[in-house]
Amino acid sequence: MKQTVLLIEDNEQNRYLVTFLLERHGWKVVSTTDGQHGIEIAQTFVPDVILLDIQLPTMDGYTVARKLREIESLRRVPIIAVTSHAMVGDREKSLAAGCDGYIEKPINPETFVSEIVSHLIPQPQSKEPHEPHPDR
Ligand code: MN
Repeated sequence: MKQTVLLIEDNEQNRYLVTFLLERHGWKVVSTTDGQHGIEIAQTFVPDVILLDIQLPTMDGYTVARKLREIESLRRVPIIAVTSHAMVGDREKSLAAGCDGYIEKPINPETFVSEIVSHLIPQPQSKEPHEPHPDR
């Protein structure tokens, strides 16, 4: 089954790049530009991972992360913050808000997918052996 990513990112270029990189690796990407909308669609299915831009309009990524963490069905879903290199303190604030990790912008196409994979938790119900990742 395809891994599904929920991508919450308002920057069109980043959204395009992330979608391209993940789809190339066979992932399914569901994306939105808005935090509140992201929270709503996160309740309609359980993604394998949530990629969360921190600098978002109307609701910042920290608030989005805190609200996602309150949703019971998403308790075990890793949230990875995508933070701007220039913003000192973003990492710590992301982790404090409930994120499991962070990836710095600008996105490095060479390492991006393996960085995400390193944050994935193995599914306890799955009886299938873990397929080796093509990047490893
Ligand atoms: Mn942004």
